[in-house]
Amino acid sequence: MTTFDALIERNQDFASHRFLKDLPLMPTLRAMIIGCVDPRVDPALLLGLGLGEAVVIRNVGGRITPATLQTMGMLGRVAQSEKGNPAGEFHLIVLQHTQCGIARLEGDPDMLASYFGIGKEGVTAKAITDPHAAVAVDVAALKANPALPGTWLVSGLVYDVTTGLVEVVVPPAPLASPESNE
Ligand SMILES: [Zn+2]
Repeated sequence: MTTFDALIERNQDFASHRFLKDLPLMPTLRAMIIGCVDPRVDPALLLGLGLGEAVVIRNVGGRITPATLQTMGMLGRVAQSEKGNPAGEFHLIVLQHTQCGIARLEGDPDMLASYFGIGKEGVTAKAITDPHAAVAVDVAALKANPALPGTWLVSGLVYDVTTGLVEVVVPPAPLASPESNE
């Protein structure tokens, strides 16, 4: 059986046994996760997400880039049209991981600068070889973005591909600090 045929067969099994009908568009856990495309680090699997529970955005490294922010902006518009319930906490979780392939792009600062929408001089500060530093950089980038709802709780996790465990590098805190006047 080819990979393609196997996947279609798995879908038929899914539709028969695990499909949930009439799920709402809005994530029922009120969570958005930004993670890496690496097949070892699927956020749904390692965080135990079920269908409909969380929005997941995946890119190389699970990084905050102009494209990530564009996607989040589009999702914000979709949520507005859905007239979702604005009350209650909403979790924005940045999930990066050890042994990430993005570190192998270290020798290509032009590609990385383009990816992050920055000049080459800024690439070092993106800490692509150090997920603990990188996740803190990206949480800081989200906190510095005034377009995002200040009440959202943002956190930063690093998943260890050798143990299966996540480490809380940045505990959940509001995007906008309460003492700021914004
Ligand atoms: Zn990765």
